[in-house]
Amino acid sequence: MFKPSTRHNIPAGSSSAALEVKLNKRHFSFGEQEQSSRYRHRLNFYSKPPSLDITIDEFESFAIARLRVLSYIESLSHRSLPYQQFSSTVATYLKQHLPLASNTARNVDLEAERRKDEIGHWVLRLAFCRSPDLRARFVRSEVALFKHRFETDDFVERAEFLRSLKFDWELVDETEKMSSASQLRTCLGQGKEDTFKVESWFKVPWWTVPDLVGSRRVFIKGGMAYVPQSLQLSLVLQAFAARLERALEITAKNLPRLDEDERLGPVIEHLAASFLSGIGTSDFQPSENNAAVTAEMVDDVARKHFPPCMRNLYDRLKRDSHLKHFGRLQLGLFLKGIGLPLDEAIVFWRKMYGSTMSDDKFNKEYKYNIRHGYGQEGKRTNYPPRSCQQILTQNQPGTQDTHGCPFRHFSPETLSSFLLSTYPTLDRSSNDLKEIMDSVKNSHYHLSCTRVFELTHGIKKGEGLGSGESVTHPNKWTERSRDLEK
Ligand code: SF4
Repeated sequence: MFKPSTRHNIPAGSSSAALEVKLNKRHFSFGEQEQSSRYRHRLNFYSKPPSLDITIDEFESFAIARLRVLSYIESLSHRSLPYQQFSSTVATYLKQHLPLASNTARNVDLEAERRKDEIGHWVLRLAFCRSPDLRARFVRSEVALFKHRFETDDFVERAEFLRSLKFDWELVDETEKMSSASQLRTCLGQGKEDTFKVESWFKVPWWTVPDLVGSRRVFIKGGMAYVPQSLQLSLVLQAFAARLERALEITAKNLPRLDEDERLGPVIEHLAASFLSGIGTSDFQPSENNAAVTAEMVDDVARKHFPPCMRNLYDRLKRDSHLKHFGRLQLGLFLKGIGLPLDEAIVFWRKMYGSTMSDDKFNKEYKYNIRHGYGQEGKRTNYPPRSCQQILTQNQPGTQDTHGCPFRHFSPETLSSFLLSTYPTLDRSSNDLKEIMDSVKNSHYHLSCTRVFELTHGIKKGEGLGSGESVTHPNKWTERSRDLEK
């Protein structure tokens, strides 16, 4: 679908739901440039591809911001939180990563917020249209995000937005309402006479509101479901989901053209991989308040504050005085991230190899790699610690390897005995272990990890690393754990 200067490459019959991108030296353009006042409403059904100039950086960073939000919502929805808690947790997270203010908000650049929201959505369509599973997960998360925004929207602005959608819902007139009064009253529940009098009803084909039909909250006659206005949200969400599903299928058909652009392809691939592993891209920035760690302190910090992946690596290193390449890399960068300086890292690794390795071999073969990890050799790149997404998806471990994520790469039996022996506070007979293993079965590895964090730190279920945040980076686990100890 994408090609440099591509207006001519888009077939005439191409649907507006397919994203059209024009490339020039510095910018992408989604079609023609438009006036800045394109966003009349806070809410958006994303019906028309945006016609905006954007930079490559924006293309990626806006999508990553939205990906974080969707991944976050997806992970929260698997934690069975009370709706109130779910909603307030999402609100806090959105404020930080993807704020979207009402028209009445002051001192806010509404245009910039809405532009970011819209572009992020359209870029993610490209990443998530590729398979039915990805499409379904994307639609579910987008619907949850839209629902949250709909429910928290300004009342007047929301009504105006709905009017702008021009839904062809058929209004039930008063005569028809009265002729089916007893059935309609039953839908509202007993003792709702006042509500019945003021309630207005829409008629829609029954198959467009399966949730309402399933929960017997609508009256069906002649193939039409009678939906009270108070359940309008369900209709709106259904319409949002149906349109998005259709649009994703159309985008998928056009997708092969995207592969022709070597700059966008890898970005899109990366976004999809992040979502598949159940987490958004997560960069780790060490907190400035973090106390440095010395080689001497590592053992104590490991026992109290290492996440399962690093505990596994550290315990194996202690036992065998050896780790294979990717294990050394994963643990070494993690240790750098928790504040182990280069000179202390050299002391640490030398001590861990002990008498199994001569000083000469260590200096020649291993010291270079440690210095390399700290950006002191070779290309002098200061490599960041690996995120969960990288650990879960890159360099898959073989049977002899110890790197990777225990939740993803251990067998269920090995994982449960590893967790029970590493974290003695976990109770084999309680429901917690079962819950952790169930999340693993459903490929929600980071949720299992987050639950282990909560259980081993005496934290209320749903709180995660704080404000409901899931574990997306081993160093974040350790940083939060050390903060809690303070
Ligand atoms: S989810 Fe992340 S932090 Fe937890 S064990 Fe796996 S890789 Fe480590």
